Amino acid sequence: MKQGLMIVVSGPAGSGKGTVNAHLLQTEDFVYSVSATTRAPRPGEIDGVNYHFISREEFLARIESGDMLEYTQYCENFYGTPRKEAEEVLASGKNLILEIEVEGARNVKKKFPDAVLILLLPPSFAVQEARLRGRGTETEDKILARLERAKEEIAEADFYDYVVYNYDGRDLDAAEDILAIVRAEHHSMRRHKKMADSYFAC
Ligand code: 5GP
Repeated sequence: MKQGLMIVVSGPAGSGKGTVNAHLLQTEDFVYSVSATTRAPRPGEIDGVNYHFISREEFLARIESGDMLEYTQYCENFYGTPRKEAEEVLASGKNLILEIEVEGARNVKKKFPDAVLILLLPPSFAVQEARLRGRGTETEDKILARLERAKEEIAEADFYDYVVYNYDGRDLDAAEDILAIVRAEHHSMRRHKKMADSYFAC
């Protein structure tokens, strides 16, 4: 059976990555990698669906036992991708979406060079700031910290394979762009190294 693709979708706070990824996840070909985090749940977030909300002690123990495929510290909290779940999804042939930040993406690319890295951006920094404030879920301090982090992340993000812009009210278009990238990647010749062998074997 063919192996699924590991797809990293990073986007700074306010990029709308949750909404865009939700479109992709409506198809059966994609599975969301539920990260573990030490951050407190936001209103409406469900344990085991949005994140596995765990204590700092448990997170550190899971790093120690090799259970995190990658992890990072972001604005004072730990975030990481559980290894076992990721490996199971890929082996089942489905595409795994990792909604992670830039440092995590860099680590994924080092360990899994075949991963596809997509950066989702708002149309501009000004739009990003307006979206973040409009969300109203963070204090001013946290908004400023996230905007600062976004500036650093975008400045060093040229190692990504693709960039997709999420214009206001056009999240479906952004999801379709990502779908097109994933389709093309599945047909990439570098993923079909044994193409000639298997073609002539039948
Ligand atoms: P938030 O607190 O807004 O849910 O997430 C903060 C940042 O952490 C976002 O950029 C999100 O994509 C990133 N993130 C979420 N889960 C993971 C993870 O497992 N690993 C890494 N490296 N980043 C993550």
